[in-house]
Order: sequence, then C-alpha cells, then structure tokens
Amino acid sequence: MTIVYIALGTNLEPRAAHLEKALELFRALPDVEVKRVSSIYESKPVGYLDQPDFLNLVFEAETDLVALDLLDNCQSIEEELGRVRTIRFGPRTLDADIVLYGAEIFEEERLIVPHPRMQERAFVLLPLQELNPEFVVPKWNKTVNELVAELPLSDLDEIWKYIQEA
Ligand code: AMP
Repeated sequence: MTIVYIALGTNLEPRAAHLEKALELFRALPDVEVKRVSSIYESKPVGYLDQPDFLNLVFEAETDLVALDLLDNCQSIEEELGRVRTIRFGPRTLDADIVLYGAEIFEEERLIVPHPRMQERAFVLLPLQELNPEFVVPKWNKTVNELVAELPLSDLDEIWKYIQEA
C-alpha cells in the first residue's frame, strides 16, 4: 500500500459540486481508499489570468495501484467530469494531479512525481499542509511546512479558505 496525495481543481460552476462528484468517483475506485480530505480553498488563477477563480483541495489515499495506473484513473475521472462541461473547448471541469506517490520520485514522460510545480503552488501546499505538515517531500528534501514558508507572501493573498454558501 502506498500513501498518495492527489490535488483537485476546478473553475467551472458548479465548482463545489464538481469536487464532490470527483471525490465520489475516487471513493468508488476498488483500489483506492480515500483517507482524509483537506478543506476547500479558493484561489486566483496562475499563468493564464483571464479565467474564473478556482476551488482546490488535496486528499490523502492509500492505494495498491502502481503510479501510472493511478494516473489512468485520475484521467478517467477528469474525463468523466469533463462530460458535463457546457462550453465546447472551454475550461476543464476538473484537474486531478498526483502530487505525491509515497516518497517516490518518478520522472517519466507521462508522470512526474513529486508534481514538478507543487513547491510553488499555494493551492497545493496549503491543503497538503493541513493533512501532513511534517511530510518530507522528496526531491526538495523539505517538509511541507518548510515549502509553505518559502512561498512568496504575495501568493498568500491570492488564496483563501472557501466558505460554502448554505
Ligand atoms: P494538465 O493538463 O496540466 O493536467 O496536464 C496533464 C498532463 O500532465 C498529462 O499528460 C499527464 O500525463 C502529465 N503529468 C505529468 N506529471 C503528472 C502528475 N504528477 N499528475 C498528473 N499529470 C501529470
């Protein structure tokens, strides 16, 4: 069994429902046991800025799947959620990235873990910090707390905890 962390993101409404549906699909996988789910965060887009804000979370799971099979499952769930999108070629309803696969390091064509940009993304690090702050992230050999402390302070203005409307 390997402990893995998967990051989910969406910026198409209904955003919270997309996260719920994605978690339901992960929970239904026979070889993946979802253990703990972070709070939901809302974050400003990075990179391409002219798009709506994202909702993000990270969950911890145990799995027997090898990393590439886990990636296949992530991509199937992305596709499953993508089917409900309304705008053709519009933003995707779900991004599901493998952040960490145990303490392993892969650098393959289809899969790079730890996720190559996790150390600069508050929307990955803050939810991960809730779940496992002292985990030593391979490749950087730093704890999640240390990686969070290295984020530029201005990045923390671009992310906040999401309060779900009743
Ligand atoms: P994106 O559209 O940004 O979600 O990127 C998806 C592509 O990233 C796919 O072709 C994956 O094979 C590749 N990829 C590389 N590393 C990872 C990872 N750790 N988690 C998810 N996808 C990954």
